[in-house]
Amino acid sequence: MTENSCPECVSELKIPGDAIDGEIVTCADCGSAWELDISSDGTVSLKQAESVGEDWGE
Ligand SMILES: [Zn+2]
Repeated sequence: MTENSCPECVSELKIPGDAIDGEIVTCADCGSAWELDISSDGTVSLKQAESVGEDWGE
């Protein structure tokens, strides 16, 4: 598992070790959704995903 900081609230954002490019992770703290952009060398960056306005992963 990789840990990144949520760009929105800077709290810890947990990214599963088997996360795939384009996967959406949601910050448990502020609820922001982020799309994973994983490059071929394994570097993970975050892109803001569209908010769906639903309760994810509760
Ligand atoms: Zn957050």
